[in-house]
Amino acid sequence: MSITYEMIVGLEVHVQLKTRTKAFCRCSTSFGDHPNTNTCPVCLALPGALPVLNARAVELAARAALALGLEVHERSVFARKNYFYPDLPKGYQISQFDRPLAERGTLAIGGGRSIGITRIHMEEDAGKSVHDRFAGFTAIDLNRAGVPLIEIVSEPEIRSSAEAGAYLRALKEILLYAEVSDCSMEEGSLRVDANVSARPVGEPSYRTRTEIKNLNSFSNVERALEIEYARHCAVHEAGGSIVQQTMLFDAHKNEVRGARSKEGSHDYRYFPEPDLPPLVLASAWIQGVRYGLPEFPAARRARYAASYSLGVADAEVLTASRAVGDYFEKVASAAGDPKAAANWVMGEVLASLNESGGDIGEFPVKAESLGELIALIRNGSLSNTAAKTVLATMLREGGTAATIAARDGRLQIGDDSALIAWIDEVWAEHPDESARFAGGERKLQGVLVGFVMKKSKGRADPKKVNQLLGARAGT
Ligand SMILES: [Zn+2]
Repeated sequence: MSITYEMIVGLEVHVQLKTRTKAFCRCSTSFGDHPNTNTCPVCLALPGALPVLNARAVELAARAALALGLEVHERSVFARKNYFYPDLPKGYQISQFDRPLAERGTLAIGGGRSIGITRIHMEEDAGKSVHDRFAGFTAIDLNRAGVPLIEIVSEPEIRSSAEAGAYLRALKEILLYAEVSDCSMEEGSLRVDANVSARPVGEPSYRTRTEIKNLNSFSNVERALEIEYARHCAVHEAGGSIVQQTMLFDAHKNEVRGARSKEGSHDYRYFPEPDLPPLVLASAWIQGVRYGLPEFPAARRARYAASYSLGVADAEVLTASRAVGDYFEKVASAAGDPKAAANWVMGEVLASLNESGGDIGEFPVKAESLGELIALIRNGSLSNTAAKTVLATMLREGGTAATIAARDGRLQIGDDSALIAWIDEVWAEHPDESARFAGGERKLQGVLVGFVMKKSKGRADPKKVNQLLGARAGT
């Protein structure tokens, strides 16, 4: 009988904080600049240079911790993490070790599951080694050295690759809402290390784990976990044992292979950073950061369901980013019709953004203008079809819905005398249908409405035309 195994995963996520300057000096954090231009004696580790902590980095780190429900400590301590690497000029990283900024949080990942977050600590990034295989050398770019990061460490409570993906998506969503990071995996502002092991279901203790480093997309995290977990299971099945080590995932070959052997934490010879005092935060300051937090996606979805009567699927689409939700709420309020606003934002707006690859912040039609357009449909001034044409014009030229609709002759005509004049013309031009309709053949009403719509170039209010024709048949 074969044993059933379960996957045990804990994730370490490095997130770059959205500051203008580095963690301990005033160098710019901007991405993609010419190598080694954003450096100074502090981040180059020149002798005698001293670090000065970036207050904004502390604020963003605390914001992230509170957004994820962690307790932020009033006192935390920076520590030196010593190791040698060519892109680490000081020979150590300033990090936090036994006294981290924040501990104990949880993250809901859907399906009623929550994953514990052990801790969040602050640290600085290292530089970047650029390997040029063709030239046969490695170059060092220290623009990243000293960029502020937080490391978010989860409890080993993730039980499948799908849960790992759900955890990462939920984490990223909250960090984006809290505006603490761009969370761009392409630019390296969100990086994932995954600790994985396998154990027979029911076994109380954990078996030896391996750590897959520097996974650069959520789908790569899921793929790498599946591969490495399968290897663990196979080794256990064959009666072997797993060696604790660092692994790398090769996305092209779809394989996980061993890197350098895993250093235990004692190898880093952590000690308190002598150049920085302990980080002391007043409880009132922490409260202030907490009050500054926005409404988060789960709360927003619940509110959309309760006050706008939107379904779960619609609420999910509209809260996928904070900016889309903000836009939708403005449209809903200007239109006076949340359901219609939801349909227009999810339909026309998101489709247009999909096509252009743009961001809602760059969408040329302001929320108030779209709301006005929807209000014109509601009060009968515009048909749905005409409104779509007007929106297309607004996208091209700007301008307000009412002005464009009037200028381009799109406004629906509901004025009785104009409609009766068209009906009279149709009546005269189609004597056969008119006579049969007047004689009681009610199914011809649709045909006659069609003639009127055609004559009015689509501008007649079809509801009113129907009423007027009905009245005429009755007489
Ligand atoms: Zn610097």
